[in-house]
Amino acid sequence: MEPASTRPDMTTVAISGGGPAGMMLGLLLARAGVDVTVLEKHADFFNDFRGDTLHPSTRAVLDELGLSEEVERIPHRKVRKVTVGRDDTNIVVDLSALPLAHPYIAMVPQWDFLDMLARKARGYPGFRLIMGAESTDLLSHEGAVRGLRYTDGDGEHELRAVLTVSADGRRSALRERAGLRPRVLGSPMDVLWLRVPRADEQVEGLNGRTGPGTMAFAIDRGDYWQIAYVIRKGGFDQLRTEPVEKLREQLRGLLPFLGERVQAIESWDDVALLDVRLERLDRWYRPGYLCIGDAAHAMTPVGGVGINLAVQDAIATANLLAVPLLEAQQDPRRFERTIRTELLARVQRRRWFPDAGTQRVQQFMQRELFGDIVGTANGQGTPAARRMVEAALRTPTGAKVATAIYSRLMSRIMMRGLRPEHVTSPERPLRA
Ligand SMILES: Cc1cc2nc3c(=O)[nH]c(=O)nc-3n(C[C@H](O)[C@H](O)[C@H](O)COP(=O)(O)OP(=O)(O)OC[C@H]3O[C@@H](n4cnc5c(N)ncnc54)[C@H](O)[C@@H]3O)c2cc1C
Repeated sequence: MEPASTRPDMTTVAISGGGPAGMMLGLLLARAGVDVTVLEKHADFFNDFRGDTLHPSTRAVLDELGLSEEVERIPHRKVRKVTVGRDDTNIVVDLSALPLAHPYIAMVPQWDFLDMLARKARGYPGFRLIMGAESTDLLSHEGAVRGLRYTDGDGEHELRAVLTVSADGRRSALRERAGLRPRVLGSPMDVLWLRVPRADEQVEGLNGRTGPGTMAFAIDRGDYWQIAYVIRKGGFDQLRTEPVEKLREQLRGLLPFLGERVQAIESWDDVALLDVRLERLDRWYRPGYLCIGDAAHAMTPVGGVGINLAVQDAIATANLLAVPLLEAQQDPRRFERTIRTELLARVQRRRWFPDAGTQRVQQFMQRELFGDIVGTANGQGTPAARRMVEAALRTPTGAKVATAIYSRLMSRIMMRGLRPEHVTSPERPLRA
């Protein structure tokens, strides 16, 4: 908890949420010389699991911020091979062959990633991070948002700000206070998350396998396999009425290399349910207030892109707003004035194509590739797109073509991202 003596009651930018979007925005604005306060409701970064994948687009941004060596010091696994399909018909993509500076998915534990951003941000004089602080409401005056209200172990506080940003994820309370409601795009699945020990073995990288009515992904995390088992939305209560052996059997069938190590799943207590949503705001802002990351567009785990898009939103926001915010910071009447709403609209316009476009791809994959598993296929049976891929994989030429198309799509949409952002916001000297 922040000691009362140092707790600020005004800042230039108040950011609700210390996830990938909030921490990256906090770092970039502080780096530009903007006074910024990030509020995170948890006491540390070890909160709900939300994925660990850093794609080449994010990895390249860390180079731009001089964080290359630091991220390499975090122990992590690099996924260079992606295998998807069934045991007899697989597409194998060698990521290391893609024309990218960092041709792999870096499986960096999210808390280490956020800690690293916080350490770097603390080097800039204008940065403040308050952990264990939950924002509860917006401060509004004359039709504009002028800060927020938050609670910590010490009670309720007000924080005035020129701009208030919701980077507080897909269940943002502030967004609701702002009267912004997301459009539900359909989230037909949930994910069960579990671990199985990994022995020294031939199989590596990311392995996605489908079977009749089921699908699972295994990600090589060094000494264990991180397993995502896809189920229909809301199906967990029914599933857990069955003995856990049924799940073990399914996993053994889909991912035979796990073998008897599935016995490590002793009971349903070893299985975490992750609620999946796909949603988007039509409008991301109000005067004095902006939503980014999952608060603006909740992503599903498909393609592991959510963290990366949240980071990209933060970069675009800093690129477009750092200079106007620095100017506003000099104005003694800044808390009575409102940053031009057109600037906030520009952030949404800049990010609409990559964020909404990637959601479209996620929807397509949900429907056309595994719709039969999550119950969204038109009609019954295997969806047409997957049938075509499976048929193609049965001939050597077809397999070559399918792999080439898949590698291209993977490289373009997932690894590099649609319209990747680069850091152009200014940099001020570090704290002496
Ligand atoms: C099951 C599942 C698995 C996923 N796996 C991956 C993956 O492997 N790779 C990937 O890239 N993406 C993955 N995603 C998507 C990814 O988790 C999100 O897209 C990404 O975390 C969004 O980042 P964010 O910063 O916008 O929001 P979040 O990561 O949700 O961060 C929001 C932060 O705000 C805090 N907060 C919330 N409310 C308040 C409040 N009132 N006051 C203060 N703080 C608050 C929260 O504690 C949290 O720290 C997955 C999603 C799901 C559902």
